[in-house]
Amino acid sequence: MGTAIIVEDERDIRELLTLHMQSLGFETEAFANGLEAYERALEGNFDFMLLDLNLPGKNGLEICKDLRSKNIGHPILMLTARGEESDLVRGLETGADDYLSKPFRINELIARTKALLRRSKPGGEPFSSGGAPLVYGKLEIDREKRKVSLEGARIELTPKEYELLLLLASHPGVTFDRNELLDRVWSYDFDGYEHTVNSHINRLRSKIEKDPASPAYVLTTWGVGYRFREKDA
Ligand code: CA
Repeated sequence: MGTAIIVEDERDIRELLTLHMQSLGFETEAFANGLEAYERALEGNFDFMLLDLNLPGKNGLEICKDLRSKNIGHPILMLTARGEESDLVRGLETGADDYLSKPFRINELIARTKALLRRSKPGGEPFSSGGAPLVYGKLEIDREKRKVSLEGARIELTPKEYELLLLLASHPGVTFDRNELLDRVWSYDFDGYEHTVNSHINRLRSKIEKDPASPAYVLTTWGVGYRFREKDA
């Protein structure tokens, strides 16, 4: 399973999370301080992160945003307190892949963790249908290895950025509206959370487009949503 970084300042919850990540087969590294966890995560050699929102040192939103801006694309499951809905929306905008509201049930924690790992692994479901790489001009999506490259150079995408790109690129020319993308990529009915889609599209464009302001691959269908360019366009 590899290494899970657990960031939670409440000791009881931290110990509980550690126990369950170990039972899933992870080596665990647990932190109570956000800044220490952030500095550890910058090293990059981990496989999964459980990240609380409110932390001493550096809060979960800043940790997530700063890791993503430094191209650390590892799966992140964010822990939020019930009622912190605005934080949750911001969490997803900063690039977290999924969230769990506290208090949570253990089987829910395990299920979310497993689903996220399945999706972020080579050959993972449900977006990797395998098969030949998708090639569009200088952009190549290797569905077997979940690898994206531009002009031969590997691009680091988060699990959600990858799923978004793969969904769009698998249907060139087809417009998906934001609610549909939320539903298909995030698997939730996140009414009114369309901004999460916009922020992921922006980050995806900043990585794969030469000129994100005038994109060649991920196009805007004004007033509706987004589409991938047609093959010969
Ligand atoms: Ca906390």
